[in-house]
Amino acid sequence: MYDAIVVGAGPAGSVCARQLGRDGQRVLLLDRGVFPRDKACGDALTGKKTLRALQAMGLCEAFLELHPAASVELLVVGPSGRRCRLVSTPNQEALRENYVCPRRIFDQWLLAQCRPWVEVREGIAVTEVGIDETGVTVSGRELSSGRALTFHSRLVVGADGASSLVARAAGLRPARARAGAAALRGYFSGCDVSASQLEFYMLRDILPGYLWVFPLGEGVANIGIGLAPQRSGCPPESLAKFLWNALGTHPALAPRFRHARLEGRLEGWVLPQWNCRARLSRDRALLIGDAAGLVDPLTGEGIGNAIVSGQLAAAEGAEALRAGDLSASRLRRYDRQVHRRLGPELQLAALGVRLLQAPWLVDGLIALADSQPWMGRALSALIGAPEGKRELLTVAGWRRLWRAVALET
Ligand SMILES: Cc1cc2nc3c(=O)[nH]c(=O)nc-3n(C[C@H](O)[C@H](O)[C@H](O)COP(=O)(O)OP(=O)(O)OC[C@H]3O[C@@H](n4cnc5c(N)ncnc54)[C@H](O)[C@@H]3O)c2cc1C
Repeated sequence: MYDAIVVGAGPAGSVCARQLGRDGQRVLLLDRGVFPRDKACGDALTGKKTLRALQAMGLCEAFLELHPAASVELLVVGPSGRRCRLVSTPNQEALRENYVCPRRIFDQWLLAQCRPWVEVREGIAVTEVGIDETGVTVSGRELSSGRALTFHSRLVVGADGASSLVARAAGLRPARARAGAAALRGYFSGCDVSASQLEFYMLRDILPGYLWVFPLGEGVANIGIGLAPQRSGCPPESLAKFLWNALGTHPALAPRFRHARLEGRLEGWVLPQWNCRARLSRDRALLIGDAAGLVDPLTGEGIGNAIVSGQLAAAEGAEALRAGDLSASRLRRYDRQVHRRLGPELQLAALGVRLLQAPWLVDGLIALADSQPWMGRALSALIGAPEGKRELLTVAGWRRLWRAVALET
């Protein structure tokens, strides 16, 4: 019998399993993929969220050795074509920069960090999870042989992404069932892109969604498009058509992507959304990452929150395992931690989604950031701030933003 079985070895699952294993718990980590495996994603890792979370685990330096190239400039283009550049000030520490690291590489690296403490089994698709007062039974199939397998544990952690089977089996609403945003991405070669710049195109028809161009070096870029929840009813084919159309006709894109070639396929779809009333735990079960619906609805960023929730679940799970109390009321502490740590920022983002649907407002903000250096600096400081959008909720946060603007005036 394992102490914990973690289903899904994406960022949320690897981090949670590693922390539980280091705590001395006997942990089994299962994934249907065989690593390195791909995952549809923009591949953008923010310094303020993802690297900070890695730093809390002592993994930031190792990541920077793996992937030292940061993108120091954000280019934002509005519906009217108005643009602004937000630049990190020189010598800002690594935690304020952004990184573009293919998930094939990042997820494999993160999984390698947990192998010393965790039993990892790849190529196992979990098909059923049963929970009763005696424990958890996880059934699955080895994909290479078709062999049926059964595992037992005291606790199960659902880190199995947007369509979480664990969430359904545990009677917790799967994140995908909630209204979600949608996104699609592809890798393109032959692109005319700057290696140090992340590009965002706020296109009129998809506001507050956007098209992104994230450079991966040597003319290769991760290019994708994300829609906010209220527009995500549009089918994937329309999203793909929209992406091709923008690349072929947008005045700032068409000349630079004339020779670009799609490598592989466009992939992606639903981004599960935060619902502050949804339960993330029950007796013997916790949900983390996309399975818990923790993607930022405004930016589409989910890796950082997946890692943070993995850390919170491991801390609460380990304590509950040690206390021998895996009841619903005990594990509810995890829900409270997630609400406290991530809730305010996710709610602010949801407010942003409602506000930023008006093209004139988006263009106005971009024009202001372009023409008024203090506004550009304020936005740069907000984007790089450790507390992110939460800075706007506290006096101390406003003071820090003011200092960032005033110090550089
Ligand atoms: C097109 C697109 C672009 C995005 N861009 C960004 C971005 O640039 N930056 C960012 O921060 N976020 C981005 N996101 C969101 C981000 O990809 C997710 O939030 C993040 O991957 C969540 O991590 P996770 O560990 O919770 O789940 P996942 O990364 O989805 O991992 C889940 C794992 O569970 C496994 N699994 C699932 N079901 C089973 C099963 N039944 N049995 C065994 N294993 C199973 C899967 O194989 C997978 O390895 C994007 C999403 C999309 C769709």
